[in-house]
Amino acid sequence: MSDRLVCLGSKGGPALRPGGPWPSSSLLEIGGRTIVVDCGLGVTRGLVDAGIGLKALDLIFITHLHSDHVLELGPLIHTAWTAGLATPVTVSGPTGTGLYWQRFCQAMDFDIDIRIVDEGRPDIRDLVAVVEFGEGLVLGEGGLKVSALQVDHPPVTDCFALRFECGANCVVFSSDTAFFPPLAAFAGGADILVHEAMLEEGIERLVARTGNGARLREHLLASHSFAADAGRIANEAGVKRLVLNHLIPADDPEIGEADWIAAVRKTWDGDLTIARDGLVVGLSCAEAAVGEETA
Ligand SMILES: [Zn+2]
Ligand SMILES: [Zn+2]
Repeated sequence: MSDRLVCLGSKGGPALRPGGPWPSSSLLEIGGRTIVVDCGLGVTRGLVDAGIGLKALDLIFITHLHSDHVLELGPLIHTAWTAGLATPVTVSGPTGTGLYWQRFCQAMDFDIDIRIVDEGRPDIRDLVAVVEFGEGLVLGEGGLKVSALQVDHPPVTDCFALRFECGANCVVFSSDTAFFPPLAAFAGGADILVHEAMLEEGIERLVARTGNGARLREHLLASHSFAADAGRIANEAGVKRLVLNHLIPADDPEIGEADWIAAVRKTWDGDLTIARDGLVVGLSCAEAAVGEETA
């Protein structure tokens, strides 16, 4: 299968609404690796819908510990374990990821212990290695290089953009961040920049609907980027494609793809994708490479 990015969950924030998209998670298949970036609610269903056998779970990266990025990390690994996972999984995340995993296993110890005895499963606690990372190189193995940049997402300090490089391919995830100019150098020359985005005209209606008005508005404006900001970063970075993701608002019937496109076109005229749950983006360099091999 060609290398690809799949937007599993494309909305920003943890709340679910009828008929709406799901919180943040992405699948990156690159150089034979199966990589999950963030584990918001719905990640397990999203992976299965994308055709991924959960036993293939390999590398998981968590950009920060907001619930819309980590809530389903434990349930994903546990479900993979019940599906027959028997090979090691590495979870890389910010400080606190190890404690989350430890406490998840404690919360589930009745079920875990009984399945080991009753069903002869390996101990899930031995299958998972948690690596807590800071800025800089996160992973370098088998031709895959992953690096992290601390971004601007107050009041969370340990929040990291991630850059994945494998062969000729490079995909960068902004994570959650306010407009953050250093991200442009970090994303320099990437094939795909997956950048979070919010739409100004939807914020007031979202704030009114959610019901904690001023504080929510304050958080959004201080901690997230407008679509035009994402375009600025993509432009400065010279990426080949911008994918707008972690959309806020994501389920406002008065806002559609055309509104997102109009907002980002003020600052970006290159290739553009507006994420939705299950959307697949091919990595063009990989496709070219496959073509060369068969030629
Ligand atoms: Zn988020
Ligand atoms: Zn966040």
